[in-house]
Formats: sequence, C-alpha cells, structure tokens
Amino acid sequence: MLSPAEDSAFRDIRRDFHAHPELKFEEFRTSEKIYSFLREWGCDEITRGLGGTGIVGVLHGRLGAVTSKSIGIRADMDALPLTEKNEFEHVSRYSGKMHACGHDGHLTILLAAGKKLAEERNFSGKLNLIFQPGEEGGAGGKAMIDDGLFAKHPCSEIYALHNWPGLSEGTFGFKSCALMASSNQFDITITGKGGHAAMPQLCVDPIFIGTQLCQAIYGITSRMVKPIDSAVISISRIKAGDSPNIIGNDIFLSGTVRTFSYEALDLIEKKIKHLSTQICSAFGAKADVCFLRQYPPTINDEEITAHAVSVAEKLFGKRKVLTDIEPTMGAEDFSFMLQKVPGTYFFLGNGDISGNHRGQGHGLGPCTLHNATYDFNDNLIGIGAKFWNELVMTRLGHDESSD
Ligand SMILES: [Zn+2]
Ligand SMILES: [Zn+2]
Repeated sequence: MLSPAEDSAFRDIRRDFHAHPELKFEEFRTSEKIYSFLREWGCDEITRGLGGTGIVGVLHGRLGAVTSKSIGIRADMDALPLTEKNEFEHVSRYSGKMHACGHDGHLTILLAAGKKLAEERNFSGKLNLIFQPGEEGGAGGKAMIDDGLFAKHPCSEIYALHNWPGLSEGTFGFKSCALMASSNQFDITITGKGGHAAMPQLCVDPIFIGTQLCQAIYGITSRMVKPIDSAVISISRIKAGDSPNIIGNDIFLSGTVRTFSYEALDLIEKKIKHLSTQICSAFGAKADVCFLRQYPPTINDEEITAHAVSVAEKLFGKRKVLTDIEPTMGAEDFSFMLQKVPGTYFFLGNGDISGNHRGQGHGLGPCTLHNATYDFNDNLIGIGAKFWNELVMTRLGHDESSD
C-alpha cells in the first residue's frame, strides 16, 4: 500500500518521534507535529487539547453517509521515564525519556494509514483518528473520554494495536473477550501498639498481625476465586519497624491485583477489606484499607474481533494471524474506551526479542518493551497502515471499482 518512497518517509517520521520522546501529558511537540500532518492532508475536522495533548482528526468518506457508522482508531503518543542505552542516530535526545514501548511506532502507523485514507476517501461514513496522551500509567484514554471524546466524536466501534516483541514480525495476535487484565492497587495500614520488644505481651505487634494478613490475602486467589477465573495478587511492599528491640506502632502493606473479570475483582476487593478489618480486630489492632481501581480489563467485542481477524487473514494469510492469543496480566488504558464503545485491541508482532531489526549501534539488552535498548520495528509501519486502511474500507463500505 505504501510506495517505497512513502515507506521511507514514514520511517524517518517514526525515527524523529523516537528521537524526541515526551512523557505522559507532556506530548506537546508530538501533538503539534501530528496536528500539522493532519492539517496538511486535509482532515475535515481536527480537535485538539482533549485530555491534555490528545488530538482527533476526522475524515469523511467520499461515498457519503451510506452508513451511519463511524470508526475510531486510537494510537498512544507518550514515552517512558527511562534513559535510552542505544547509540544509533535516532537515539533519544533527552536523558530520562525514551520511546521504549513503541508508541512512536503506533502513532506513525496511524498517520501513514490516515494519509492514504485522506487521499483516497474510498469509504462511507466517518473515520476518527484518535491520538491519545498518557497511556503509561496516566489513564490518558479516560482523560480524553472525560473531556468529551465520544460526545464530540461519536464512534460506533473502536480499534487499537500494540506492537508485541516475541511475536514474529508482522504476525497479528487477536483475542475475543479479555486480552489484558484490570490493574488495581491496595494499601493497608495496620495500627497496633508499640513497646519493648522483650515484652510483647504489653504490645499489639503490627508485624505479627501483618504477616498473618499476608497469608490470608494470598489465600483469596488460591481458595476463594474460581480456579478458572485467573487472578493475581502480589503484596509487593511492606514497611515496618526501626529497631531490633522496639515493637513499632504500625505496618504498611501494599500491592497489586490483576483480574480479567469484574466478578473476580469485586470478590477480591471485598475479601481484602474484610480480612484486613477482621484479622486486625481479632488481634486488637486497627486496619485502614485503600483499594484503588486503576485500569479496567481490556475486553474485546467478539463480532468486531472476528471481522478484524478476517481482514488480517485476507491481507496477510492465515499463517500470520493468531486468532486466540494468550492473554496477558499487563493492563492497558484503551480499556476505558472499550467500556464505552465496542471494539478490539490486538497485538502486532515486533519480531524476535533478540531484535535483529534494530539498526547498528543498538544496545546489548533484549528488544523487549520498557527495556532501555528496545526499538520499534519499522517494517510494521506499512503492514499496520495497510491493515487499518482495509479495515476502514471493509467496515464502512467502499466502492470496489476503484480498488
Ligand atoms: Zn508500556
Ligand atoms: Zn505501550
């Protein structure tokens, strides 16, 4: 779909974004660049400043409103607070900022698709090109929704992709229903009664109670959640005590909870609160529990996913399409958009983690997400753009005589 000249131009564009990474909600240069491209290519409407630096470009098909459908395709724009260890020419210009999750690639794929679709407009209805800030822990997807994304730009269905190291180059990984988990955090403060470590009978020892509580909490996933409903609880931070001969007043426990279903999530939240208060009360201590739901599970629509699978199979052959990829306990804020509008989120193979696609001067680490020697695989720009293009045309209807 992209000519060799266009392909090369978009590789340069991707590398320019890579060299100028911006952290969540600071994507000012990135957003400005995207805006000038969308304007140059003749987008019918452009909305800026959604959820901070978010931007939406709207394209109307030349076949008019034969369908009332409108599609949204979302790409994330932010980088990570990481110092890049590559030394090639497009290495990050800033210490402590790096496109180590490939969002530079995601947005370039969407730009490449958008340029082609803007030129040809061989579809009916409306297409919304959605560029989102703050995916890396900032819930930028939610910020855009709260700022009126779907009120200003109604979508009947939405799509997004993420490059996936370890999946062979250009292989699509789809999954109906839950592909990524919900991400949640809990913080528990247990307040006991401090005193001399040689006289525990005069104290309410928070460490003794906290360690009992840890065991009980780990019992939630093994004994209370349905065995076929996957869930993870990790108590990953404990802080207590200052001195070997002093029993302190309190202990602080903190951790993460990941689930694919709301049913498991509701149960775990309830049980963590219940066990904390009851165990503490049994030993004469007090528990303060804070349970924070961060990202919801990423749940794909069955019919829309099946359509996306058929598009990928038609373009690239069944060998390049996995229809039931293993879900991951990682989380993704596209889930907020999927709560409002049905759609699908899928993986696109970035290639082997040895990262043979990386240019000369790359660091020695594996080419995995959030690694300081990662680099996006530019061969995915043409593949991803071709996919988005075909998806829009088949989903919104097109004039086959001009294919
Ligand atoms: Zn990431
Ligand atoms: Zn990412």
